[in-house]
Amino acid sequence: MSNHVLVFVELADGKPSKAGLQALGAGCRLARQLGGETVALLAGADVTAHAAGLGAFGANRVRVAQGEQFKAYSQEGLARLVAAQAAEIGAAAVLAAATPAGKDFMPRAAARAGCGLAADCTALAVNAGKAVATRPVYAGKALVQVQAPGALWATLRPNVFATENAGLTAGVEPVSVNFGVGDLRDVVREIVAGARGKLDVAEAEIIVSGGRGLKDPAGEGKQNWENLEKLAATIGAAVGASRAVVDAGWRPHGDQVGQTGKTVSPKLYIACGISGAIQHLAGMSGSKVIVAVNKDETAPIFKVADYGIVGNVEDVVPALTVAFAEALKG
Ligand SMILES: Cc1cc2nc3c(=O)[nH]c(=O)nc-3n(C[C@H](O)[C@H](O)[C@H](O)COP(=O)(O)OP(=O)(O)OC[C@H]3O[C@@H](n4cnc5c(N)ncnc54)[C@H](O)[C@@H]3O)c2cc1C
Repeated sequence: MSNHVLVFVELADGKPSKAGLQALGAGCRLARQLGGETVALLAGADVTAHAAGLGAFGANRVRVAQGEQFKAYSQEGLARLVAAQAAEIGAAAVLAAATPAGKDFMPRAAARAGCGLAADCTALAVNAGKAVATRPVYAGKALVQVQAPGALWATLRPNVFATENAGLTAGVEPVSVNFGVGDLRDVVREIVAGARGKLDVAEAEIIVSGGRGLKDPAGEGKQNWENLEKLAATIGAAVGASRAVVDAGWRPHGDQVGQTGKTVSPKLYIACGISGAIQHLAGMSGSKVIVAVNKDETAPIFKVADYGIVGNVEDVVPALTVAFAEALKG
């Protein structure tokens, strides 16, 4: 095994994604500690143009798997590719972002390599020459440190790791892939885009989340949700939701924050009309600053909030929008 770190850099809209570049930054720092190189892996139908640029984000080398088999997302295709590349470079650690795609193909890639996977990690370190990952467990109540007997395979929580400003010149190496589209058993027939231009909660730096306290947007809660959207637009935030809201069909599942939704780590999380159930906290308690708006001063959300506002969302959300708009004017 070498001391090199292999980082799969995910794409978004055909370009390296923010979460992918954060994983690359984390991989670069780990490789430095291990005394190895950072090898970035790009896969897509047309990705070569982005390869050399990854040196600026910490890659010493960039391996490029270009072909029709990577045009659409394929969990099997990526699992085969990443496992083969990890073996080829003898990686000491194999990393990818814990995005929906990373959560899907990385366990399969690790299994192909005969390894386990540390999922959704929030820190990486080196102990006695071996890579160690830290990951929250029991809905964030405890942290475990994971060390593998061989290579460490891990997915990294988005927005926790900083990108690297490395200014390296990366060597670009084409990868020869021994399977084509016809060899893959999973076929993506259609990708249905969400609302255009909508910020994804998993990558947003600011999130404004709504809970059952906002009430039904098709009924008496209509104004509350419009107010929430307005607040989000004013401060450049993504709109998130509790599971109660998603289960009621008020917001799409992609907006759900929590144990069975997305794990988020924004700079600012504003929870409106959300009680703060343990399963919701599991997805957002890593936020840098938490603001809670709830009419019940005993709501559990106030236990994790840095700032709490006891009041009705009907009054507080529009008042916050006005105050933010005023403050942002200057
Ligand atoms: C296995 C499992 C997984 C789960 N996964 C998730 C998950 O991923 N994400 C998640 O969120 N939940 C999850 N849940 C559900 C979770 O337990 C809670 O039921 C859910 O988070 C409650 O959502 P809520 O806070 O919006 O609603 P409620 O608990 O009903 O809280 C509404 C809050 O709004 C306040 N309120 C009401 N009216 C107003 C008003 N006018 N102004 C201000 N405040 C008001 C109330 O005081 C209350 O605190 C999961 C549960 C289980 C069992």
